[in-house]
Amino acid sequence: MLLLSLLLCAVQETAAPAAPALAIEHVTLVSMEREELLADRTVLVRDGRITALGPAAEVSVPAEARRIDGRDRFLMPGLADMHVHVWDENDLFLFVANGVTTVRNMFGDPLHLGWRRRIEAGELVGPRIYTAGPIIDGRPPVWPGSVELVEPDEAKNVVREQKAAGYDFLKPYAKLSAEAYEALAVAGEEQGLRLMGHVPGALTIHDVLEAGQHTIEHLDGWAEAAQPGGGIRQLGFELESAAWGTVDDAKLGALAKAMAERGTWNCPTLVVLQKWAKGAEAAALLARPEMRYVTPAMKGFWDPTSPQSYLSTMPDAALEAAHAAHAPKQRAVRLLRDAGAGLLLGTDMGNPFVVAGFSLHEELVNLAAAGLSPYEALRAGTRDAARCMGASDEWGTLAVGQRADMLLLTANPLADVRNAARRVGVVLHGRWFAEEELRAELEKRAHAFEAR
Ligand SMILES: [Zn+2]
Repeated sequence: MLLLSLLLCAVQETAAPAAPALAIEHVTLVSMEREELLADRTVLVRDGRITALGPAAEVSVPAEARRIDGRDRFLMPGLADMHVHVWDENDLFLFVANGVTTVRNMFGDPLHLGWRRRIEAGELVGPRIYTAGPIIDGRPPVWPGSVELVEPDEAKNVVREQKAAGYDFLKPYAKLSAEAYEALAVAGEEQGLRLMGHVPGALTIHDVLEAGQHTIEHLDGWAEAAQPGGGIRQLGFELESAAWGTVDDAKLGALAKAMAERGTWNCPTLVVLQKWAKGAEAAALLARPEMRYVTPAMKGFWDPTSPQSYLSTMPDAALEAAHAAHAPKQRAVRLLRDAGAGLLLGTDMGNPFVVAGFSLHEELVNLAAAGLSPYEALRAGTRDAARCMGASDEWGTLAVGQRADMLLLTANPLADVRNAARRVGVVLHGRWFAEEELRAELEKRAHAFEAR
């Protein structure tokens, strides 16, 4: 694709064993291990890892190191978008340009395994990718390309195939039967692949908690379980949105406690339904500055005036119900925080107007507006995201030995989550990308799209 030659140079330089070290000096460190700022630190990076970190006076910087002045700057871990649907290679760069250094991809395909190889080899600039295998659904599946699991006996084979292919986790979906789902949960447990996904229509949220599902996406299944008259069966999308209007908050609180006890994570993805729009509202979204960096093909899938867009046939009532569900979902997020349950920062990017990278900063604002402190909101996309993936000793915090995925900022992100977008540059697996380089590459892409 449209890689800047300077990006290629950076790749070749750091891929070579003799790559110069990188030193960020005299910076205020936001390690994310706890809510604290450590003044006047120097961080040393070599071969993609943090090799030293401490008071600036105590860290000796090798002569050959590239030095970056960190005075009056803040250094925090790179962000993770924990719910993405990335199908367009262009989006990989948009993540990086927004400080998103890790993504969890929720509908996997060999395409993603190929990108992951190229990214790790330094041939492609993109975030570290965790990916589900193809969605596992009943028959007929909701989405083409899903794996159909009908016979419970087949679950073992489905898991074996996805594991052998290199996928990281399993994504159960809406039309699985209860028997098929249970068999999948058992097979996943036996073979070490976790279930992360939706609540199938044949089950309740309590069933999936019982089965040990590791994450629940979009607060799926919550509204049904929290109805005042007692739990009701899983609803289709529009009715589910409407059901959020009548939830009993005491029941939401009890669910949040159950999640905390079970160690179940929730990825609320509030931003995706905020973007459901038609008419003038959709036109305003399409006119936003970041839309210049989205490929024309993608915009074609989003624009509700195009028949390719799922918004084109969406009834207005569904849009209104989705927007009305925002406030009760925010209450659920706050209750999860109060209960000490695991929360993940994620967007459902790839859906209309949810632009790679840019949207993650909107979701940070959503989590803060729900009542999380800036530290808590940022943790959902750094330290806790890594914990959820069983990778706490690999990424998500700044410490010696961690992968060097970092954001250098002009303002304190613990004072306001919006400051996480005020970048001086991004360190991606040890490579430094100055903000000007990132912006220049974005502009180059925008001009190429405009010329089409
Ligand atoms: Zn999704």
